[in-house]
Amino acid sequence: MVDLPTIAQEIGVCTRCPLHEGRHHAVPGEGPADARLMFVGEAPGRQEDATGRPFCGAAGKVFDDLLHEAGIARDRTFITSIVKCRPPHNRLPHQPEIATCVGAHLMRQITVIAPAVICLLGALATRSLLGATRLADVRGRFVRRDRLYFPTFHPAAAARNPAWRHTLAADLRTLFETLAGHPPVR
Ligand code: SF4
Repeated sequence: MVDLPTIAQEIGVCTRCPLHEGRHHAVPGEGPADARLMFVGEAPGRQEDATGRPFCGAAGKVFDDLLHEAGIARDRTFITSIVKCRPPHNRLPHQPEIATCVGAHLMRQITVIAPAVICLLGALATRSLLGATRLADVRGRFVRRDRLYFPTFHPAAAARNPAWRHTLAADLRTLFETLAGHPPVR
């Protein structure tokens, strides 16, 4: 089976959709291949594009704080996004871009890692992996499809809205309590 470094290498030179045209660095994601918890966000932002690392900008700082509060060790989770290249002017990725990137890269990452839970961060990640599902209908709940999913707010949204931050913190605690006693939660 293909491994994560090989997938990351392929993402780094991928030209399958127009998003490659404006990127400085593709952002494959990071974390161990045996992560039991996988986070899937939306798309790289400016800081992620500059560094090639996921969730390292302002939203990443909020995310780090929330993970810490929940007791989740970031370095024992795998963190990635629906598309791996930054959309121009931080626009939302278009549906063909999402379909291309998910099919070419994210699905293979999920197959390699085989996480116990995939936490979907935000409405776009939720729609992209669960189909016509409104985040409001499934937020904070485990959803069984081909795998076990757990949709919640995106950290960037939580950074703008204290009530959503509170909710995201509670959702991450639910994840912690569900997976407690097993990696990647401690
Ligand atoms: S967004 Fe995904 S599919 Fe598009 S160029 Fe980047 S890695 Fe390839």
